[in-house]
Amino acid sequence: MLIVMRIGADEAEVEAVMARVRALGNTPVLAPGSERVCIGMLGEERGINPDEIGMLSGVDRVVPILAPYKLASRDFHPLDTVVTVGDQAIGGPDVVIMAGPCSVESRAQTLELAAQLHDMGVRIFRGGAFKPRTSPYAFQGMGEDGLQILAEVRARFGMAIVTEVMGTDEVGLVAEYADMLQIGTRNMQNYRLLEAVGQQRKPVLLKRGMSSTLEELLLAAEYILSQGNPNVVLCERGIRTFEQSTRYTFDVNAIPMLGLLTHLPVIADPSHGTGRWDLVIPIARAAIAAGADGVIVEVHQRPAEALSDGAQSLRPARCAELIADLQRISAAVGRGVALPALAGV
Ligand code: PEP
Ligand code: MN
Repeated sequence: MLIVMRIGADEAEVEAVMARVRALGNTPVLAPGSERVCIGMLGEERGINPDEIGMLSGVDRVVPILAPYKLASRDFHPLDTVVTVGDQAIGGPDVVIMAGPCSVESRAQTLELAAQLHDMGVRIFRGGAFKPRTSPYAFQGMGEDGLQILAEVRARFGMAIVTEVMGTDEVGLVAEYADMLQIGTRNMQNYRLLEAVGQQRKPVLLKRGMSSTLEELLLAAEYILSQGNPNVVLCERGIRTFEQSTRYTFDVNAIPMLGLLTHLPVIADPSHGTGRWDLVIPIARAAIAAGADGVIVEVHQRPAEALSDGAQSLRPARCAELIADLQRISAAVGRGVALPALAGV
């Protein structure tokens, strides 16, 4: 429920309403972005009578928030949220490009690729150090050594780093190195992990569970927001459908639909969403045309030798093509691409 106070309601009235909300076992939060004071009620609503709250002094009306998520909903927070990562604003007028290898494989591979991507204007570098692999026998990532290589990328090139955290016990370590913590598709409903990243202040890239509905994605975001971290970026990365010809099915509907349901920025991962490098550019274009706030793509110098996700990795030259394409697509939908002024792109 959202309690809309009358224009001119005084502080004592607001405080009395908040106290009543607490007495009913809910947590009151001031909702932003309105000329009037609005108080959101977070918690179990069963047994709470909106008419009783509507009669409290200073209350104009009580609006039900029908969605089970509250802090993540547009009703609660009408204005777009902008999440800042390094020098990039995600969810603002410009679309943002995040690129890098699926996995950090070695210092040489990572630094060479980072230099190439930096020259293309990429300002957020992705790379997994802790890898959630379907098979326990597959490459599991370089762990902390990989994080140190990512820290070197930031120090040398000034790029911000986004990297995955897989367990609650690793949140502190990964947050020391990363500018943005990625929660992977397989952990979207790992509620203790969501709470742990909600309790720290680094922005979170929350990937949609491969078998999750948008409501489940937004409830996962709610876990993070309700712990006090407002900096959540959602990522559509493809879902399981009956279609077998691609690794996952990129759900382009999700992008404008999430834009209706939530104020949180939404980016697209066409690499995992398709599983094929030759579909990455078309699906990235579609995502930006549909309103995505950015893309995250996997790039590798020698995809055939990649230790993970080579089949969906673009070569650097193709990534440059993608960036040029996205500049055209974003211009067509009234946006720009957040790139530093560069020659030759
Ligand atoms: C990744 O980004 O490399 C990754 C493992 O993503 P997802 O969790 O979407 O599979
Ligand atoms: Mn990957």
